[in-house]
Amino acid sequence: MNRPATINQTDNGNSYKLYKFTGIGFITAGFVLFAALLAGVVSLDAMIASSAMFGSITVGSFLYFYGKIFSHKAGVNNAGIWLSGLTARGIAGWVLGVVITGFYVLLYWYPTTLNGLISIMNPLAYTITGKPADQWFLYGTFYTFAILIMGFRAIFRYRHNRYQIFRTAVIMLAQLIFAYLIPSFLKAMHQPEFYFSYFWPLKPEYLFPSNVAVFQSKGAVGQFMVFWGVMMSFVAVPALTYYFGKRWYCSWVCGCGGLANTLGDPWRQLSDKSLRAWKFERWSIHLVLVSITIITIMLWINSYTEGKIFGKASGIMAKAYGFYIGALFSGIIGVGFYPILGTRVWCRFGCPQAAILGIIQKFFSRFRITTNGGQCISCGNCSTYCEMGIDVRAYAQKGQNIVRASCVGCGVCSMVCPRGVLKLENGPVKGRV
Ligand code: SF4
Ligand code: SF4
Repeated sequence: MNRPATINQTDNGNSYKLYKFTGIGFITAGFVLFAALLAGVVSLDAMIASSAMFGSITVGSFLYFYGKIFSHKAGVNNAGIWLSGLTARGIAGWVLGVVITGFYVLLYWYPTTLNGLISIMNPLAYTITGKPADQWFLYGTFYTFAILIMGFRAIFRYRHNRYQIFRTAVIMLAQLIFAYLIPSFLKAMHQPEFYFSYFWPLKPEYLFPSNVAVFQSKGAVGQFMVFWGVMMSFVAVPALTYYFGKRWYCSWVCGCGGLANTLGDPWRQLSDKSLRAWKFERWSIHLVLVSITIITIMLWINSYTEGKIFGKASGIMAKAYGFYIGALFSGIIGVGFYPILGTRVWCRFGCPQAAILGIIQKFFSRFRITTNGGQCISCGNCSTYCEMGIDVRAYAQKGQNIVRASCVGCGVCSMVCPRGVLKLENGPVKGRV
């Protein structure tokens, strides 16, 4: 609900403020150390530096969450969200956007500038991968850390809603286990660094002929990876989406959705709700899907014909796709622009996996959001907080079920509705629209 819940008064209020400001102090100290390591102006023992940086941000975050979130009764409190520069595209939001984008630029194109940060990750990298850290280990660690810390924020903030608690906990565990620990252990065992929570076409290289050949050369483990990739892409994804809609993946498993729903949660209201954006979304996401499908088919044809038909063209196209879609779109625009464009820019406009899930959801799935139109007071909370830019209110006013390809089933529209109008449901496909 978009109104302040009851605030605990005076003494309690002051102690909550103390927690909040102490938390800000710790977080600031952690980020100052981060900046100093990045700039190379301090040189500390790796273990001390990494413990101090992650420890300070962790302790500070929990103190801040306690002071900020638990000073209110359970329930959504979004008061002032459009008055803060950080959450309403003000100067602070733009600065943060530039900082995140800048980090991605360094990560992709100038990784040696991150050496100060990479070196402090060595103790952890040696422990779980058996190898020294590189920029991708640094990135994976930051990514997972962000999902875990901000995941706790989401759980505390939405503690009145069991769906959100359970969903967020699963996202956090999926990232930690399937996208961080297992790939690291595989690396330690000299196996391909495989992410069991990503499949073709979101991770297109998993079904590229050159990679399939590498996997198959790795014995039983590699063969299982090929089997997993094919089975998930062509059997499990359609079946699970038929039963549960897109949400089982986009809101419960995928790391991109995981980051959007945890780190990105403060900016979900910035999604573009215009008709123009909806039209653009339908073109762009399907164009990306068609592109990667064509590229994959070309690579396989080239592999069988030993390059006789497409020569170097398919390889060049795959590289271009990796650069423009994989790096620029999903990383730099998708995450760097959270504070400007909202959190699901990649999921909504670019992700080819979301395109497939969306087609199945729209035409064949049992998932829908039902609306009790008579109860709707047209407050617009649902539309405001829909991260996929869906004008939920327009459906609610008409009492129409919502069956949209883009809906990721995050459940936030239902949670912020003050009248209990919206309900996420699975039921017979027939008659749901
Ligand atoms: S319609 Fe509701 S459940 Fe679907 S993406 Fe928007 S807020 Fe989430
Ligand atoms: S369904 Fe109606 S009452 Fe509920 S949040 Fe949307 S506009 Fe408000």
